[in-house]
Amino acid sequence: DTLPLRRALISVSDKTGLIDLGQALAARGVALISTGGTASALRNAGLRVQDVAEITGFPEMMDGRVKTLHPMVHGGLLALRDNPAHRAAMDTHGIGDIDLLVVNLYPFEATVARGAGYDEAVENIDIGGPAMIRAAAKNHRFVTVLTDPQDYGPLLAELDSHDGHTGYAFRQRMAQIAYGRTAAYDAAVSGWMAGAMGEPAPRHRVVAGTLAQTLRYGENPHQTAAFYRDGSDRPGVANATQHQGKELSWNNLNDTDAAFELVAEFLPADGPACAIIKHANPCGVARADTLAEAYARAYDCDRTSAFGGIIALNMKLDLATARAITEIFTEVVIAPGADEDAMAHFATKPNLRLLTTNGLPLAGAPALSLRQLSGGFLVQDRDSAMIDADALRVVTDRAPTRAELDDMLFAWRVAKHVKSNAIVYAKDQATVGIGAGQMSRIDSTRIAARKSADMAQALDLPAPLTQGSVVASDAFFPFADGLLAAAEAGATAIIQPGGSMRDDAVIAAANEAGLAMVFTGQRHFRH
Ligand code: 5GP
Repeated sequence: DTLPLRRALISVSDKTGLIDLGQALAARGVALISTGGTASALRNAGLRVQDVAEITGFPEMMDGRVKTLHPMVHGGLLALRDNPAHRAAMDTHGIGDIDLLVVNLYPFEATVARGAGYDEAVENIDIGGPAMIRAAAKNHRFVTVLTDPQDYGPLLAELDSHDGHTGYAFRQRMAQIAYGRTAAYDAAVSGWMAGAMGEPAPRHRVVAGTLAQTLRYGENPHQTAAFYRDGSDRPGVANATQHQGKELSWNNLNDTDAAFELVAEFLPADGPACAIIKHANPCGVARADTLAEAYARAYDCDRTSAFGGIIALNMKLDLATARAITEIFTEVVIAPGADEDAMAHFATKPNLRLLTTNGLPLAGAPALSLRQLSGGFLVQDRDSAMIDADALRVVTDRAPTRAELDDMLFAWRVAKHVKSNAIVYAKDQATVGIGAGQMSRIDSTRIAARKSADMAQALDLPAPLTQGSVVASDAFFPFADGLLAAAEAGATAIIQPGGSMRDDAVIAAANEAGLAMVFTGQRHFRH
């Protein structure tokens, strides 16, 4: 089922590879038709090109809004070559076959990404391009459609291996890619419009992305995987620059995102902060006067788990921190920038992946979070809630001290990024015990305390750092037992949402143990 290529229509905004393709097609005897800018570029390279305007009998008009929207073009793309009625219509109206369509669209995503205003974005919504792509892709039994300069080489290889023809399998694959492209394009337009209206509601959002990277494998080596960008220009992992180290894996990307989102809870204006992540959960988070100290304190929360971890910083990586980090094995470091001497130091550890961004993710910004189900998926607003001290309700006889309050707010922000059931012990703006992902809250409470006791032993401390700490719980304590376990580990204050049927019993137990407790009225489940 191979077909010869005799006539091609090329209309591209991204002119990458255009001249080479035009020359290669011309050399194979393919006649070229083009729109304004594309035709000029081809002519400047000495190629013979027919203007679309000559074929349609209409000039390009309305600032390019109407160029190719004409039966002479769409008939040539859509006609079934083996259908006598279609052939007759072509003959009657003088419509010629278009065997190959090469189109890439007005750069809508890039225009939005560089912060263009509303009207400019609207003007960059391509109409004729997607119309032609969809027509050619529909008619892939006869027509080849290319929407990405990446596919120019494979087309020429296909022609060379099929005696100047294209095979059905190739045309079908290109059509499938083409529909993916127009779907993602419209999704980008819809997403941008939703954002422009300040309408983040999941019901109104379309989810799509463009392939950024085919990954070596997924969570496990037997799973295939790929990484997509959603087209937004948000600072974050998807838009980071990698300076060194091996290609990022699925798990690296997932964990680095978790790390960077967590550290972004702490604005640089409030001082340096560091988060270390393993398996999407933090194993240490700290704030301090210097970045190196923040790293050291985060590391001291759970040195065992931090090995081979992923580190996120809320400020530019400096040399002192870079030196401290390279003392052990780390998979990835991400930061909003890096000093030259720090980068030079990292260069001595070529396996360490360093990513930099032009800012921190916006912790409070609306966005979507997705979860796959078998047979469907769930979409929700990302958990961008943030609590401030005024919203807290003291429910115990004793009110927290200033220091306890500061640590509770710190622990609460960390708990938001720990898988439920999440329990976070913190002291002096550093985590000292983290319990994650347990099926019962009491287990998370005990595990966190035990890990802290292990660290105290390893560091030769007189007592675990949970002594005199505060505790954050991502959801209410359903019974007093978890709270009592925290008190036993030495916690003096608790921050939790409240709202349990047994709040009264939990509050009474807190009073009896001399704890201060505050309710946030808001929970942070993360599953
Ligand atoms: P050129 O640089 O050749 O002047 O324009 C190429 C761009 O025009 C391509 O991105 C193509 O998708 C787009 N295009 C082709 N036909 C039409 C049309 O009829 N209307 C609009 N809005 N865009 C078109």
